[in-house]
Amino acid sequence: MQNLLRHIPKVDDCISAVREDPDFDNSPVLLIKKGVRTVLEKKRQLLLSGSKIEAEGLSLPALLPLIKNEIISLEQFQFRRVINGTGVIIHTNLGRSVLPESTMDMLHQAGGRYSNLEFDLTTGKRGSRYSLVENLLCELTGAEAALVVNNNAAAVLIVLDSLTHGKEVIVSRGELVEIGGSFRIPDVMARSGATLVEVGATNRTHLKDYRAAITEQTGMLLKVHCSNYRIIGFTSAVSNRELVALGKETNLPVFEDLGSGCFVDLSQFGLEKEPTVQEVVASGVDVVSFSGDKLLGGPQAGIILGSKDIINRIKQNPLNRAMRIDKFTLAGLESILHFYRDPESLYTNIPTLSMIAAPLNDLAERANTLLAQLQSSVGDVCTLEIENVMSRVGGGAMPEQNLKSKAVVLQPVSMKISVLEKSLRTLEIPVIGRIEDNRFYLDMRTIAEDELGLIASGLGMVLNGQGD
Ligand SMILES: *Cc1c(COP(=O)(O)O)cnc(C)c1O
Repeated sequence: MQNLLRHIPKVDDCISAVREDPDFDNSPVLLIKKGVRTVLEKKRQLLLSGSKIEAEGLSLPALLPLIKNEIISLEQFQFRRVINGTGVIIHTNLGRSVLPESTMDMLHQAGGRYSNLEFDLTTGKRGSRYSLVENLLCELTGAEAALVVNNNAAAVLIVLDSLTHGKEVIVSRGELVEIGGSFRIPDVMARSGATLVEVGATNRTHLKDYRAAITEQTGMLLKVHCSNYRIIGFTSAVSNRELVALGKETNLPVFEDLGSGCFVDLSQFGLEKEPTVQEVVASGVDVVSFSGDKLLGGPQAGIILGSKDIINRIKQNPLNRAMRIDKFTLAGLESILHFYRDPESLYTNIPTLSMIAAPLNDLAERANTLLAQLQSSVGDVCTLEIENVMSRVGGGAMPEQNLKSKAVVLQPVSMKISVLEKSLRTLEIPVIGRIEDNRFYLDMRTIAEDELGLIASGLGMVLNGQGD
């Protein structure tokens, strides 16, 4: 073994060999050195642990490709674009909403130039970043006042902290939501210093349950949207109107965490009718909060709508500073909200909504285009089919709600399906799909027209071990 260890090439020789390749002309020497050291150290450890390696496998020519791959992977950005073939439109793990081109232009400007982020152009004095989208939000929703924070979890926290610190908050047992990433309504409430009072049973809650729980200590009536689950069967929930009436009668604010918050009725696309933000505001609820990057189709944000008095109290909460949005969010959100002035244009301009609205015929056509490209490149090494599937809106937006879609389905002749899935995931632009019954599914609903070529060449590379 000592003898073999001596066969491991010298670091400096490896570095020189890498630098002979013009592909690495722009690679910093420190990074090349790191790549070399990593590969050599791995070999050393293998030898020390008793693995059998031929002397030849330790030669510089044998190690050079490994070293180059290591450097390439060190140079790669960790945060990258992927192709979403899962059919889940608002996919929290894949970045939720995709923004329109013109919105991207606004982000570009916001980042690359100075702006009036906190500068009032009329008075020439200090301005407030919050005022920039407040009027537009009020115009679109009918709310009296608005505030935007970092995300909806932050919105829920700051609403509760501002209005109910040290008091009791009444919520139905059927609405004690966990939405993943360990966001649980009861936990957030504990942090805000409010005490949760659960009423009703899991499947049924009545107005009299809320009423019976109201005491001197009560500070709020809370409603939470059942984002990612549904209670079916023998059920009963209290409507907004009933809760608002009870709130008025007992002088308690009513807060609804809407979760996704949609400005338009999506039932025309076969989805169940959900109350729109405008309808919830009109129902008389005192405060509403929802996400910017779920059905609204914008950047990550938590939007809070309510009466002037309540929004002012929230604005003055010191937590507001800790949750404030940055200029990119502001630029992106204003751009997205502008689209909502023209509801006709929404389904072509906002990707999240256009993916929901995409007609089945378009998806079938997209599937045919991809199938034709794949038949010529990988038709020999895998079976290819088009199948009817169901896409999901996702993002805890609409539970159990599916949209008819088309998928291109692959089954390699010799490659294991798990190997295919992993190889696609490690491409320069990773392609993410899903495995079902030992077959690989690519749902056309979340794949853009201009991504079909990338998928075809990626699959060609993986299945043929080369480009197309
Ligand atoms: C998604 C969701 C949240 C959290 O929103 P984020 O913007 O992800 O922080 C809170 N409440 C409900 C009901 C949700 O669906």
